Amino acid sequence: MNLHEYQGKSILKSFGVAIQEGKVVDKVEDAVAACKELTEETGTEWYVVKAQIHAGGRGKGTVTETGSHGVVLAKGIDKVEDTVSGILGGHLVTAQTSATGKKVNKVLIAQDVYYPGDSEPEEYYMSVLLDRESGRNTIMYSTEGGMDIETVAHDTPHLIFKEEIDPRVGIQGFQLRKIAFNLGLSGQAFKQMTKFVAKLYSAYEGCDAAMFEINPVLKTSDDKIIAVDSKVTLDGNGLFRHPDYAAMRDKTEEDPTEVEADEAGLNFVKLDGNVGCMVNGAGLAMATMDIIKLSGGSPANFLDVGGTADAERVEKAFGIILKDPNVKAILINIFGGIVRCDRVAQGVVDAYKAFGKFPVPLIVRLQGTNAVEAKQLIDDSGLDVISVVLLQEAADKVSEVLA
Ligand code: GDP
Ligand code: MN
Repeated sequence: MNLHEYQGKSILKSFGVAIQEGKVVDKVEDAVAACKELTEETGTEWYVVKAQIHAGGRGKGTVTETGSHGVVLAKGIDKVEDTVSGILGGHLVTAQTSATGKKVNKVLIAQDVYYPGDSEPEEYYMSVLLDRESGRNTIMYSTEGGMDIETVAHDTPHLIFKEEIDPRVGIQGFQLRKIAFNLGLSGQAFKQMTKFVAKLYSAYEGCDAAMFEINPVLKTSDDKIIAVDSKVTLDGNGLFRHPDYAAMRDKTEEDPTEVEADEAGLNFVKLDGNVGCMVNGAGLAMATMDIIKLSGGSPANFLDVGGTADAERVEKAFGIILKDPNVKAILINIFGGIVRCDRVAQGVVDAYKAFGKFPVPLIVRLQGTNAVEAKQLIDDSGLDVISVVLLQEAADKVSEVLA
């Protein structure tokens, strides 16, 4: 589950990670009051207004309606309302969004942390994630912060460092010092960085995160180390342990069909092909998508209906698949292990009937417990359903109906 910058920062802060402080508003009228509070807490008199959307590159992005960028510095409280108006309610297009962009429903008004002082502010890159090759949590970091890390990785890969954490002992002091050293820090900033990384790592573990990306981590002109941005992805499988984080979910940022599927207990990912699939089990779903591809079609979705493929679920799944106008055929491929095929078949027949006129050809393959009875049931139903036994037959039928 992805979080907004302000939500990620609130989690970081709760673990003691130093952040660029800010206030979230969803109305222009609340902006000035938010600034006053922020000034009281931090002393800042300049404010950075930051669009809250689930996409990066906001600083360089453009709000379609106003031409404003998605991250804008307001040099004084008298500038804040105008700045907020330029962003809030508009559609922000960045390198990571579609061409229509994402609607900005909230902005974060943050303290300006790039104030002048004894040294220049410096931006670093830091992320924490599971390296699936080594099976270990890894801290990736670079002196080249603030910019697109993919570009850094491509052009100057030697400027990206990695530190693997041994799960038996956790992050060690020498690793914290190595990171601060590699970032070229000394004195107070060096000490602050070791603290920052230690806290960041404990936050990553403590909130069951799948990924943290802090770009930039900032060294302020007075040698503080703080998180200016946060991109936090939490592990959905760990959310049951964190009801407060689960409540942070912003469904307006997600694909509406995927939200609906999720609420129906279906594991659904929308794709851009023309054959809808309804399968039980993720592995079988992947295999089914492969065979659709090999037969000349292309999967319109990944859908795992799970263990209970009764009429209600099948009907719900049909509804979700058929929302996609690209779908030209549906292939149901269910293995009856625990679930009995004849019950699934009955579910399919009932759901099919509930549609009145089914809009696309339906190919059904049920294998496993009571598969023979299931095929009989479908054949006897008199419905226009193509029932097959082998996966290859199913694939052939798919190419036949698409032709
Ligand atoms: P992103 O573009 O979506 O990654 O958003 P960021 O939160 O990383 O902000 C983008 C850029 O805005 C940063 O790299 C900074 O250059 C700039 N920025 C962020 N906070 C401040 C601030 O407090 N003061 C100033 N002057 N610039 C800031
Ligand atoms: Mn950023």
